Parts: sequence; structure tokens; C-alpha cells
Amino acid sequence: MPKPAEDFAKTLVAWQRHHGRHDLPWQATRDPYRIWVSEIMLQQTQVATVIPYYARFMARFPDVRSLAAAREEEVLELWAGLGYYARGRNLHAAARAIAARPDAGFPRRANALSELPGIGRSTAAAIAVFAWNERAAILDGNVKRVLARCFGIEGFPGERAVETRLWALAQELLPRRAVRGYTQGLMDLGATLCTRTRPHCERCPYAGRCEAKRTKRVDELPTRRPRKIHPLREATWLVLRDAGRVLLQRRPPQGLWGGLWTFPEIERDVLRARCRNDFGCELRSTRPLAPIEHSFTHFRLRAVPLLCIVSSIEPRARSSGLRWVELGRATAVAAPAPVHRLLAELSAL
Ligand code: SF4
Repeated sequence: MPKPAEDFAKTLVAWQRHHGRHDLPWQATRDPYRIWVSEIMLQQTQVATVIPYYARFMARFPDVRSLAAAREEEVLELWAGLGYYARGRNLHAAARAIAARPDAGFPRRANALSELPGIGRSTAAAIAVFAWNERAAILDGNVKRVLARCFGIEGFPGERAVETRLWALAQELLPRRAVRGYTQGLMDLGATLCTRTRPHCERCPYAGRCEAKRTKRVDELPTRRPRKIHPLREATWLVLRDAGRVLLQRRPPQGLWGGLWTFPEIERDVLRARCRNDFGCELRSTRPLAPIEHSFTHFRLRAVPLLCIVSSIEPRARSSGLRWVELGRATAVAAPAPVHRLLAELSAL
């Protein structure tokens, strides 16, 4: 290994030993299942948010078999509020795929792990490093930031050419030994010192060799995503309210918010007919509430909730994929964040 790469790893391992994190709930195990669940929950989510979710998830699903045996709905309920629900669905699908293997065990190499639903190359490497000490490189968002700054790599890391370069660098820097301490060090440095805004360069073990610091480009690296104006999608959400409960509809398993509970979407000009025919409800009054805006990766959503007070309900109305939810218990429903926010506001109305 070239000397600079060796020094990079040694510096990081020594820093991690004294200044890194050692007490996170998923660090005291070599169980690939526990490591995997933590890695998935930590994607796009802060450690402090993940800790209580992780504890509840482990209490309910202590091993891959119990997760595989669960209904998807149960998994999503435990995920409610954590966001990025595709992670929960993929976790469940991957648990089923693992349980169906001849030995019902985890594939033991990063390459094989990355073929399971929701396990990308970096996550597979992290599991293989922590569970089996495999010499595999990680490259999540935090690591991309550390490497782009330390080595002065220009270009948006989401672009293929830049990402390829970063992967090659991550691979080159990987030490022969102490790969666990090194990998944890990269994670810890990105999460605690080399943060996206206001990094703590004065405490960083790379302060003397960091290219971004040397050239005063810490705020410019990594290069930001080129700005794009995302299209706006408008929708009307039907908020059918019957005393202390509201009607939610389960979305189809594929697509936006797949499998989650949301308010039915509706065309306003067929409001009453649809309420009667599809939901068995007659309406006493209707009024629009303040619009809700939410950004997705490729578009923005602007939803106008239409609060409709129900005067009577036809008991034989179709009920598949529909559910009347008590507002006082709505936090337990597997629903996306904007729906949860509106449910909380409705309780206060
Ligand atoms: S010196 Fe600053 S910018 Fe460079 S790696 Fe350390 S914390 Fe990040």
C-alpha cells in the first residue's frame, strides 16, 4: 500500500480509538442481522433519532426469522415517523429472501449481500466489515464528504464519474488490518467532525493535510448537486371526519408511499358522488384546510386537504384498503410524515 494511504488509515484508526463512538447500541455485536438493521435505519437519519426506533425494532423482531414471519404492515408501523419507508419494505423483503435460503443464514460476503433488496454496495460492505471483518470499502454520504474535502475532489458526488473516482480512492485507502476501527473511524469523523455545515477542522486529525482546508474550500466541497427546478404536482386530499376518527386509504404496494396509509385523493367536482359510492358517506359540510407542501427527489407535492364532516355512513360500504382511524391513536399508523402532521393538526381542531 502506498505510504500516504497507509498514513491516512493509521491516523484515522488512532483517532477513532480515542475520540470515536464506542457505545452505540449496535456496536456491541457481531450479529449481521443487528448490524444490518442499524445500517439501514441510519441511512439519511441521525443517530439520536434511530436509537429508540432500533430498540423497539429489536424488541419486536430480535432476529431475521421473526422479521421474515411478520406482516409488512407490522414492519411499517414500527417504521412510522422514521421516513423513507422503502427502507422498511426492503428490509422485510430481504429478511424473507434470507429466511428462504437453504441455510436460512446471511450471505457471508459483501458482494452477495449487495444482491438483497435495499442493500447497496456501501451498506453491504459495512455489514461485512463489522460482522466478519471483511476488507471492504464503504462510501456513504458522510464518507464521500470526508474524502472529497481531504483529497480536494471536485464535482457533484452523485455524478457517475465523480462517484467512480471516490470508490477507487475508498478502495485504495483501505488498510490491510484494523478494518473495523478504520471503517468506524470514517463514519465517526463524517458524523461528528467533518459535518456538512460548520465542520470542526480545529479538532480534526487530518487538519494538517486536508486539501479543502489548505485551499480554504471547506464550504465548497463536496460540490453541491446542480440546481434543478422540480415540477409541482397538485392534489386534493379527502379528509373524511366522523366525530373523533378519520378515513385513511392504503396505497398500492408499488410507487409513491407504497403500502402506507394516506388520505384518499379526490377530484373536487365529483366529491359527493365519490364519498357516497366509494366510501359510503354522506356529507354535512366541507371546507379546505391550509395546503401542505412536501418535496420528493423528482417533484414537489402541494396537497389541499378538504375537511369533510360526515353526517351518515353506509355500514355495508366497501372496506378493503380503507380504515377509520381514531385521531388519538393516529401516531401508531404507518403513514408518511406529511399525513402524520395533518393527523396531529386535526386532533387539535
Ligand atoms: S480538516 Fe476539516 S474539512 Fe478537512 S477533513 Fe477535517 S474536518 Fe473535514
